[in-house]
Amino acid sequence: MDKRIQMTTPLVEMDGDEMTRIIWQMIKDELLTPFVDLKTEYYDLGLQKRDETGDRITVEAGEAIKRLGVGVKCATITPNKQRVEEYQLHEMWKSPNGTIRAILDGTVFRAPIVIDSIKPVVKNWKKPITIARHAYGDVYKGTEYRVPEKGKAELVFTGENGASFRETVYDFECPGVLQGMYNKDSSIRSFAHACFQYALETRQDLWFSTKDTISKKYDQTFKLIFEEIYEAEYRARFEALGLTYFYTLIDDAVARVIRSEGGYIWACKNYDGDVMSDMVSTAFGSLAMMTSVLCSPDGKFEYEAAHGTVTRHYYRYLKGEETSTNPMATIYAWSGALKKRGELDGLPELVSFGEKLEEACIDTLNEGIMTRDLVGLVEEGTPRAVNTLEFIRQIRGRLERKLEA
Ligand code: NAP
Ligand code: MG
Repeated sequence: MDKRIQMTTPLVEMDGDEMTRIIWQMIKDELLTPFVDLKTEYYDLGLQKRDETGDRITVEAGEAIKRLGVGVKCATITPNKQRVEEYQLHEMWKSPNGTIRAILDGTVFRAPIVIDSIKPVVKNWKKPITIARHAYGDVYKGTEYRVPEKGKAELVFTGENGASFRETVYDFECPGVLQGMYNKDSSIRSFAHACFQYALETRQDLWFSTKDTISKKYDQTFKLIFEEIYEAEYRARFEALGLTYFYTLIDDAVARVIRSEGGYIWACKNYDGDVMSDMVSTAFGSLAMMTSVLCSPDGKFEYEAAHGTVTRHYYRYLKGEETSTNPMATIYAWSGALKKRGELDGLPELVSFGEKLEEACIDTLNEGIMTRDLVGLVEEGTPRAVNTLEFIRQIRGRLERKLEA
């Protein structure tokens, strides 16, 4: 009889590219299939397959997450001009993450994996800070114009049912620049729901910040929508769990974040989230330790690592050189997805497996065994740098002992 932990609903498994594709297989072989009767619906999002299918495979994977509820994704190449030549692509396919995000209407939450021996640059940070970035609209969908000469710029809106608006933006007396951007109530609402739900789920306070003192209509709308949804649908549940929702001006938020201990979710508009997530992850230590989960407003989840396919390591790997690429964030994508699947399907053994896998990772690091990227960040003890496979096998040894206990 198969003594491995059983699953009921399959996970949507999305394979990827380069070094992370190699690590993906190692994780499955060493840390998952020996212990879990892994059920997955497999989608190969490797660049070659995306090209062969005209990127239909990415859309199918997104639809599968909608249907099954939980996915786990390997890092993938977002093609640029150089990749189009390297892989002789039919087209410069769009970012798979963007495609899946659009299908799920989701918000991305990023949080660092924190260990004792790596101290954040900000010395009072004790717990992870999770950044929730609204990944739709604003400057990312903006229209820009390089104003070449003297002239008048206007903002014009023509409504379908007769609403109209026209206002001078600026009377240019010389060349300059101009930008128009937008967002939609529906997208802001989804963002708000995703944030409130994730806060309840992870039992953390939620902070939200914009610049509504300056942006009295645009940012104000974000603030009001969050407030309305919180009062109508979430306040009671937050209070029952002793959690708070807290809105503040972004300037104030930045100051508070730096002085805080961490341990909350900071929701940001698109641009703020882009910049702040890089700042927070760098201050916590390493991109290789950033986890990422996409949550949709109707409760679907996609787990992944925040980093890319680690191309430079892959080329070294192809030449037969030893690589010490950090698999932590990719392992956590799997453990996160398995825990969520276990929770949804009422499989405590699967949840417990995910937890033990994470504990085994942390124990390995705490005992000073780590990949090369982390060694330089450790302040105490004498860490030992190992290659990727050795690191994963060290985790496996600890995991086996935990599962036997
Ligand atoms: P990257 O793959 O994140 O790697 C950038 C550098 O960060 C690496 O060269 C490495 O530095 C370090 N690094 C990142 N992850 C690491 C890990 N797990 N272990 C050790 N070091 C790590 O970013 P990129 O080079 O800009 O992008 C490569 C490809 O990934 C691109 O084709 C891009 O489109 C794609 N990408 C995908 C996603 C995604 O699917 N979510 C996200 C971002 C980028 P050293 O070389 O100095 O060791
Ligand atoms: Mg960025």
